[in-house]
Amino acid sequence: MSQRVTYYSTNRNLINVAGICPFKGYVSFKEALLQGQAPDEGLFMPEPIPRLSLRDIKALKGKSYTHAAMLVAKSFLAEEISEIYLKKIIDDSYDYPIPLERVVDRKYIMRLDQGPTASFKDFAARMMARLMSHFRDKGTRLNVLVATSGDTGSAVGEAFKGIEGIDVYILYPRSEVTGRQKKQLDTIGQNVQAISVDGKFDDCQNLVKQAFSAPELSRFNLTSANSINFGRILPQIIYYVYAYAQLAQDGEEIVFSVPSGNFGDALGCEYARRMGLPVKKLVMPTNENDEFPQFLETGIYQKISPSRACLSNAMNVGHPSNLARFFDLYGGTVDRVGTVHKLPDIEDMRRRIFAVSISDSLTRETIRKTYELYRIILEPHGAVGWKGLELYLERFGDFPLCVSLETAHPAKFPNEIGQILKITPELPPSMRDLDQRTGEPHFLPRGFAAFLEYLQSNLKEED
Ligand SMILES: *Cc1c(COP(=O)(O)O)cnc(C)c1O
Repeated sequence: MSQRVTYYSTNRNLINVAGICPFKGYVSFKEALLQGQAPDEGLFMPEPIPRLSLRDIKALKGKSYTHAAMLVAKSFLAEEISEIYLKKIIDDSYDYPIPLERVVDRKYIMRLDQGPTASFKDFAARMMARLMSHFRDKGTRLNVLVATSGDTGSAVGEAFKGIEGIDVYILYPRSEVTGRQKKQLDTIGQNVQAISVDGKFDDCQNLVKQAFSAPELSRFNLTSANSINFGRILPQIIYYVYAYAQLAQDGEEIVFSVPSGNFGDALGCEYARRMGLPVKKLVMPTNENDEFPQFLETGIYQKISPSRACLSNAMNVGHPSNLARFFDLYGGTVDRVGTVHKLPDIEDMRRRIFAVSISDSLTRETIRKTYELYRIILEPHGAVGWKGLELYLERFGDFPLCVSLETAHPAKFPNEIGQILKITPELPPSMRDLDQRTGEPHFLPRGFAAFLEYLQSNLKEED
């Protein structure tokens, strides 16, 4: 029944591009997961994209999230992992609620903020961590190096905490994380070590890059867990299928609005549609980093560098890393630095996707209005999503069934929410004991030499 899914590189068709030797092969999910990126710096793409039947989707109604997760994950992984292991991984990943909150009519907010770090990134990170543990070469220890500017690092760190056979090192820029983020990163503990770097986020990324190419470290099994890993995209398909199954009637169509930065979350929706989910439109609101809305409007892609600092700070992205996947799905090619080598079918993109830029002032106004009108508390990312949906409905007419994603918990933004709504959102259970947690980072001076020495004396070869 199931067809083996293989993975190719988004750069496979590049010709005569300096420094890039296109990877024309196919790898398994295991290889895509453990390598993270294709050898030509392209992103791995599944082929064929598995199909789900509407009957199987409808059967998920009233069932727990793990049922939806099994259906989606099995369709990609049935050839590479047994159902028993997959079920264990999924049951262990998803043990928290996914509220679908009605706002008005049949328009909903899906709250993806109930995981251990109160961010939707928990969904992807938790499943990826368990898949990596399963697929690692047994007997060797897998060492995960991550550079973070804040929230991704804690989601990844929490996800890997206590996971068998894996150690995680998280590098963060000492002066660029908030007090709460620092506390979250430093206190994960067990097999997860925080490293406080004297430098900026770019310096952290460079240290990780240098470690991957250092001959002194070649005997260690090193990998990354960054947002372009297909192992982080797959889990982000699931909640679209889940929400649809709970809310839709008789195979009707649905509109999703996904606040977007690096486009990994929205890509999950794009894949869900291509797998057979009846998605009428994917709304992709961005903040003032409007390179993609501009592209859909004008047909010209121009990345924004440096990116603009907006309220919805996890979406301050001037060149989304997953744009290469969107281009590829629509027949185009764009590389890592933002050069377009082949334009996608832009008419087709416009038919399927509505992208719009939401300013910071509109974001604030949306937080205020949704609270006044509906008593719904949104944080800045979720507000960008909701406003994008409203603008879509204004422009194209009302549509019955709509779901907008809330990607972080309002309590993570006490200052903004306090200023706008004059209330203090209650912390989710996962964050309540944060102040009591203890743990210290390893302090790293500038330069690669100290990091190399640290890794040589701390990394483990064997499990
Ligand atoms: C990362 C993040 C986003 C953006 O998701 P992408 O997959 O990068 O588009 C939105 N909201 C929050 C809270 C995030 O942490």
